Amino acid sequence: MSLQSVDIAVVGAGIAGVAIAREVTRRDPGSSVVVVERDAVATGASRRSAGLHFPRGTTPRVRRMTSYSQDYYRALRQQIPRLPIHDRDMYLVAARESEARLREVHLPEAGLTAVDPLELSVAGSPVVPPTDSGVWSAAGCQYADVPALTRALARELRPDAGFLEGVRVTAVIPGTSAVTLRTGTGDTLTAGQVVLAPGPWLRDPAWHALVEPLGARVKKIVALHIEQPPEPDAPVVVFHDEDAFLLPLPHAGHWLFSYTCREWDVDPDELRAGVLPRDLAEAREVLGRYAPELAARCVSGRVFCDAYSSTKEPQIRPLDPEGRLVFAGAANGSGYRLAPAVAAETADLLGLLGGPANGRSTL
Ligand SMILES: Cc1cc2nc3c(=O)[nH]c(=O)nc-3n(C[C@H](O)[C@H](O)[C@H](O)COP(=O)(O)OP(=O)(O)OC[C@H]3O[C@@H](n4cnc5c(N)ncnc54)[C@H](O)[C@@H]3O)c2cc1C
Repeated sequence: MSLQSVDIAVVGAGIAGVAIAREVTRRDPGSSVVVVERDAVATGASRRSAGLHFPRGTTPRVRRMTSYSQDYYRALRQQIPRLPIHDRDMYLVAARESEARLREVHLPEAGLTAVDPLELSVAGSPVVPPTDSGVWSAAGCQYADVPALTRALARELRPDAGFLEGVRVTAVIPGTSAVTLRTGTGDTLTAGQVVLAPGPWLRDPAWHALVEPLGARVKKIVALHIEQPPEPDAPVVVFHDEDAFLLPLPHAGHWLFSYTCREWDVDPDELRAGVLPRDLAEAREVLGRYAPELAARCVSGRVFCDAYSSTKEPQIRPLDPEGRLVFAGAANGSGYRLAPAVAAETADLLGLLGGPANGRSTL
């Protein structure tokens, strides 16, 4: 395949870009597709992802995307053996008054069921819910080693798509018959259609002016590690009212605690300071309400960022009048669990309605 002129170029080889390239090659097997990545596959937000999928969506569209993605990942695990996706039992802890909202935002197939809070410790969780909280169980939760999954999907895709790693896109020039990409290698790539899947790199000079009107912003995400090996079947606990969760990572030998950090408009290339004292303090304060002995052990973790939209829904939008240039991302800290649906909507927008993707051609 010529890498100078292709039908479709995808910029960014995170979980979104790789899922999009996979969807495009499945819907239009005859098309030439190239993925252009300034670093290596799965080195952006996807490298730091906690990889939790839970059966929840804050809007009807996100719930449809969640349901689609859940089915997609289930089918994918049957198609490609040994993918690093692991089923988990899941419990929700929330104020009892939150029950109506919990039932609204969770998929019906999650089968939300109120349970005795003691069930948590029986299931191997260190969480002790406050006495005024309720506890619910829900089905459909899984977590993935997202970088390993992204690399596995890229490996499977390579016979059908070109990969340019270590190649930075330095300019994006939409035209009436094609989109021109200039790269850091001094080359020019012409594509009939281009998908920008840049994760949190919204302000890259190559596309900042094109993407800015979407109004997406970048927020820091902190997930702390707790150096204590979880039981192999320990459940995930989601603290609904806190927008936080405690995830056992038996494959890595530690727990992960994710809470909502409110630091906006960070630069992904500047987040080199690692975990800061205020990150530790904020996380310990939240986790301390549910699992004080674990809170004291939050001493390290992963710090990065993600793109967030003003609508709380992923953005899949044309950026030029011809519809040759499409933005796909801003999945609001849910880019792993919604990647299959983002890919399906992107392929729809590219006009690739030809073939079924895991039994469905569109959302
Ligand atoms: C700590 C943390 C925990 C998270 N936990 C979860 C979770 O539990 N569940 C969940 O669903 N989501 C989670 N997320 C969010 C999820 O990881 C992201 O939404 C997802 O990885 C975004 O994927 P992406 O492909 O859009 O972006 P990325 O993975 O960032 O990929 C974008 C790629 O574009 C490349 N790129 C940038 N500029 C250029 C250029 N000029 N030329 C070429 N390539 C370029 C980058 O190098 C990068 O590889 C978490 C995120 C973080 C940071």
